[in-house]
Amino acid sequence: MARNIPDAQIILGTIPVVFLDKTKATATSEGNNAGWHCQCNQLLIGRCYYQFGWTCYTVCPTCGKAYRVDRNAKKQAIRVREVPTPVTKNSI
Ligand SMILES: [Zn+2]
Repeated sequence: MARNIPDAQIILGTIPVVFLDKTKATATSEGNNAGWHCQCNQLLIGRCYYQFGWTCYTVCPTCGKAYRVDRNAKKQAIRVREVPTPVTKNSI
């Protein structure tokens, strides 16, 4: 028998994207996730934390730029930031 499972609309937010050359754009966010366009126009997705508390980052498959999604205390995505490559733990 089918259960009556709720169906929720995902609430999208808008957060800033900051590139290394100081230019800015906007990303769409939902919870710990974000989606944005790289400066090369590749559509990217990222998240502000990974399972088990790992940090994580996104690398553009087209041009190689790297990004981190910053979070607030509630682990919600609040900003996307391009970081220097190669990515190191120090670039968090
Ligand atoms: Zn790119």
